[in-house]
Amino acid sequence: MTSDCLFCRIVAGEIPATVVHETDTTLAFRDIAPKAPVHVLVIPKAHHTDVVEIAKADPGLAGQVLAACAAVAEAEGLPEGGFRVIFNVGRNAGQEVFHVHAHVLGGRPLGPMVMA
Ligand code: 5GP
Ligand code: ZN
Repeated sequence: MTSDCLFCRIVAGEIPATVVHETDTTLAFRDIAPKAPVHVLVIPKAHHTDVVEIAKADPGLAGQVLAACAAVAEAEGLPEGGFRVIFNVGRNAGQEVFHVHAHVLGGRPLGPMVMA
């Protein structure tokens, strides 16, 4: 738990979130500013800054985050139409919250992968 980390505070229940999936090690909740009809953030409960750091520090947990993404996609009915999973890392990607999170996006055609 990092007291100044927004997503650690959501894990701790200090900040409300609409939780859609939870395991012993992961939490998934709806993005506060959704960019698609389905926009869910999937995080490990333990604090890791980004996907590079968690992949090095705890690859098993990184796999559990991916498994949770798949479970969320299934529960939201996304696999048939297709969907996108995004990890932003650092400045060029516009990462705003430095607690690793996967964006699970779907529910409509998502357009080009990267804006021109
Ligand atoms: P990033 O840009 O770091 O990849 O994504 C951060 C995401 O967190 C953004 O899509 C933003 O809308 C979302 N977000 C920021 N603050 C909150 C919050 O308090 N609650 C929820 N549910 N999402 C948040
Ligand atoms: Zn955190």
